[in-house]
Amino acid sequence: MAKTIQAIRGMNDILPTQSAAWQYVESVLRDVAAAYTYQEIRMPVLESTDLFKRSIGEVTDIVEKEMYTFDDRNGDSLTLRPEGTASCVRAGNEHGLLFNQTQRLWYLGPMFRHERPQKGRYRQFNQFGLEAFGMEGPDIDAEVILFSARLWQAFGISEQVELQLNSLASNEARANYRDALREFLRAHEAQLDEDSKRRLDTNVLRVLDSKSPETQAVLANAPKLSDYWDDASRAHFDGLCKRLDAAGVRYTLNERLVRGLDYYNRTVFEWVTTELGAQGTVCAGGRYDGLVEQLGGKATPAVGFAMGMERLVLLLEAQDKIPAQQPVDVYVIALNDDAELIAPAVAENLRSQVTGLKVQLHSGSQNMKKKLAKADKSGADYAVIVRESDFEIKYLRDREQTDRIAQTATDVATIVSGH
Ligand code: ATP
Ligand code: MG
Repeated sequence: MAKTIQAIRGMNDILPTQSAAWQYVESVLRDVAAAYTYQEIRMPVLESTDLFKRSIGEVTDIVEKEMYTFDDRNGDSLTLRPEGTASCVRAGNEHGLLFNQTQRLWYLGPMFRHERPQKGRYRQFNQFGLEAFGMEGPDIDAEVILFSARLWQAFGISEQVELQLNSLASNEARANYRDALREFLRAHEAQLDEDSKRRLDTNVLRVLDSKSPETQAVLANAPKLSDYWDDASRAHFDGLCKRLDAAGVRYTLNERLVRGLDYYNRTVFEWVTTELGAQGTVCAGGRYDGLVEQLGGKATPAVGFAMGMERLVLLLEAQDKIPAQQPVDVYVIALNDDAELIAPAVAENLRSQVTGLKVQLHSGSQNMKKKLAKADKSGADYAVIVRESDFEIKYLRDREQTDRIAQTATDVATIVSGH
């Protein structure tokens, strides 16, 4: 027998039994996006490598060790997108969507990072993201956060997620803080973990989210970013908090929240859960006012977030929040060879006349017992047995179980009898 070929490690199939959950999640996301007047944008999954190097930053985990980068047949360096924001800004610049305009955009699709696969962490995963361009006030920061809060409400998991907020302030304020933090950490270098030692020179802010208890102990006495906030960033953050307060959204200030991508400034936030083990961040985002210009466009303020779809689906499954789906409503069976000729027409008639009715037509000539067993296994509420000149409705579940069954059965009876 030929050797079977397996999927690439960390890249998952979404099987038929799982796809209903995904479709449910996606439909809620689309509906909420429409309610906030965000429009969908679809970008390619391949971009030139420079796009991510210039936006995410050369000394970030993603660019240093997680990207799928290769030379194509022309020798150009391409990268499978590790995230959506850079592509979205690239597309916005390229098509003139950003300068002097406001845009509210969303996207949904696969992202690629070469990480160690584990629960909630994969090499191909999906993100739903929002990006709002051209608005500089804290009102739009509040809007994207309220959008995310509404999602949790719609999914019934508001109690399972917590909002953490911070401000990275202006580039200048952050640079001053970086110097102060570096100086402080140098004095305690011996107690730091290896990664953090390395980051002292390259990306000292990332030391703040080190998982090492020793490093965290050192950080307890480190200078605070909020002591370096510039006045405008402080006012912006204050404006955001007031709007969240007024809208009844709870949050905690997390001074160690810095995010792993270089392009953020001012507001950063994460929605975290304790229900998923180590991979607890379901949604993360913030403001990136410098990125559009950095990628060659005219300066345009921007804010957005990205949500990990796999983590959301895992959380919904763990909380039993995926609504059950009726796979089949009606199973159509022919009584004999002659009836088999008209059974497809009966099924067509049902599909034409009852919007949304899920009709499965039996395929193959088996005996009636086997056909009914299949009908039952399909999950259908009832079978329609087509005879040459009439039909029979056979209830497979408790007839009075739901109004829906009673209603569609009545519809079906009317339709089939008129056939
Ligand atoms: P983490 O700290 O978990 O590595 P991150 O900071 O790298 O996350 P972002 O780049 O902010 O993640 O991506 C936004 C969201 O996308 C994350 O909060 C998470 O829900 C999801 N995500 C990121 N990387 C992965 C992955 N490898 N597999 C599944 N989901 C992911
Ligand atoms: Mg990561």
